[in-house]
Amino acid sequence: PKPDDDTRIVKVKESKVDPKKQYTDERGSEKDHLYIVVIGHVDAGKSTLMGRILCDLGEVSQRTLHKYEQESKKIGKQSFMYAWVLDETGEERVRGITMDVGRAQFETKTKKVIILDAPGHADFIPNMITGAGQADVALLVVDATTGEFESGFELGGQTREHALLVRSLGVNQLAVAVNKLDTTNWSQERFNEITKKLKAFLKQAGFKDSDVTFVPCSGLTGENLIKPPSESELLKWYNGPCLLDVIDNFNVPERPVSKPLRMSINDVFKGTGSGFCVAGRIENGILNKGDKVLVCPTKEMAEVRGLSINDMSSNVAFAGDQVSVTLSGVDIQNVSVGYILSDPVQQVPVTTRFEARLVVFNVKVPITKGFPVLIHHQSLVESANIVKLKALLNKSTGELVKKKPRCLGNNSVAVVDIEVCRPICVERYKDVKELGRVMLRVSGVTIAAGLVTDIYNT
Ligand code: GDP
Repeated sequence: PKPDDDTRIVKVKESKVDPKKQYTDERGSEKDHLYIVVIGHVDAGKSTLMGRILCDLGEVSQRTLHKYEQESKKIGKQSFMYAWVLDETGEERVRGITMDVGRAQFETKTKKVIILDAPGHADFIPNMITGAGQADVALLVVDATTGEFESGFELGGQTREHALLVRSLGVNQLAVAVNKLDTTNWSQERFNEITKKLKAFLKQAGFKDSDVTFVPCSGLTGENLIKPPSESELLKWYNGPCLLDVIDNFNVPERPVSKPLRMSINDVFKGTGSGFCVAGRIENGILNKGDKVLVCPTKEMAEVRGLSINDMSSNVAFAGDQVSVTLSGVDIQNVSVGYILSDPVQQVPVTTRFEARLVVFNVKVPITKGFPVLIHHQSLVESANIVKLKALLNKSTGELVKKKPRCLGNNSVAVVDIEVCRPICVERYKDVKELGRVMLRVSGVTIAAGLVTDIYNT
């Protein structure tokens, strides 16, 4: 090997440490981290609800609370203060200080819960894709007010699209906040009506009944959020858990620390000192300060000069962590959002062509050979074409229905080849789930979701 072959050094180091042991030594006693994405139709009360939870759990300073209380009184809309609180946690977290905009967190009995991509962004869906790509679980907020649930759920509403999206991106546990139930005087009938409709839909979207929990609540009054109900009308018929307990009961997915390093980059910024920073999530493996990593798809070697998790500097980060990494040895111009930091030996595949199993759910014109799309892969957005329609599959059994179909309409499941205009890093879904999922969009609309089944050498 050449003297400058950095990969050898990494290999030697790797063989010394047992990643599982390192993880338990470092984190064994800590609360599990759980990443949650909040979804739902506009005005369902997402910001109010999350803001209220943060306030009630004491995550918001008295100063901030007071400021917004005064301001919201002034305009006669006291309910706004909670939504503002949530936005504040977003604004305060300026680039360079932390890794992402709009992040807030709180703790339950057994977990540290990180809210991904706090709602309220103007262009919610692309942000949500990034958020959902990193989420372990989702909270779906629906407005129980007469007529409002219907407009969010029936044609045109975002409830369905959001739920389908997060499911396609691999989220399989869901809490549903049947929110604003104060407006119906805590009607059990209304709760049951909404639950019944959603259950049928969510099942169809691929959620197991046992992985979905419905919680009657009000983000505005705080009812049934962090403690059991006190409202007598609700107590008459509900004795289930409050929202916080439902979140506490979610299963934390296993963190694949023993697999080769993969970190997806969702932000690149100048740090305070030398070098620059990238932020993102470690999907697989372990990242130590001092490690050599390969920046892909460009395959430039870089060194990890510093690491921080939730603004705290650290010597090591594990699969599942959201981190900021200070890099040296590579130019900031050569690193982009959507790139991957890879183990230099066991490298992430780089390609312009791969095979995917698609679920098509929202096309105006059927997909035919050559169909142009924008492909969303983690934080990456790239132009691509569906270059080959290989097989149409049965939706529920996955069995072959037809080879080489001429076109694909809504609700079809199919195997296709996708060609991307520039090389990207992807993994087969069965190897690394997080890097094996793609979303396809056309003029601002998500038309399909897919799992990568094969990668071609290009
Ligand atoms: P988002 O768009 O989903 O983030 O919704 P917001 O949190 O901004 O809330 C939309 C509107 O619904 C605001 O006017 C809130 O004051 C109101 N709202 C939110 N939660 C509740 C609730 O639990 N009960 C009632 N009655 N109104 C609520």
